[in-house]
Amino acid sequence: MTNSIKRKASCHCGQFVVAAMGDPLRVVICYCEDCQRRTGSSYNLGVVFDESQLRLKGEFNCYHRSGDLGLEIEYHFCPECGSNVHWIYDGAHVVAGGCFANSDFPKPTMALYGKRKHNWLHPLTEIPNYPGSRNSKPEYDA
Ligand SMILES: [Zn+2]
Ligand SMILES: [Zn+2]
Repeated sequence: MTNSIKRKASCHCGQFVVAAMGDPLRVVICYCEDCQRRTGSSYNLGVVFDESQLRLKGEFNCYHRSGDLGLEIEYHFCPECGSNVHWIYDGAHVVAGGCFANSDFPKPTMALYGKRKHNWLHPLTEIPNYPGSRNSKPEYDA
């Protein structure tokens, strides 16, 4: 662990909490249609940590689906209010960025599924932008 910064992400009602120690490994913004439907927003902000950095507290239910690369994603959401706070994808432990509700949070380090981005959103030109999954060719590099 490189630092002792501690941040807390929580669901809307507050019973499902994820405590994160240290800085994230990466912060991914994703504009895909699945993320739009899952979050009810124009994009998802996924904050990736090592499993050892996270502590989950409270009740949660699971929802599984297969991602575009054929890997299963396991979503954890609050059974009371329905917020999807945490998920596991390809061994990565991801926390929903909005659940930290912290305007000082580290900014995205890569953007996925740019081809699905709502037209009014400006591209984040200082980070790699992938038109599709992370296996697609980025449109510009950092
Ligand atoms: Zn809740
Ligand atoms: Zn997505």
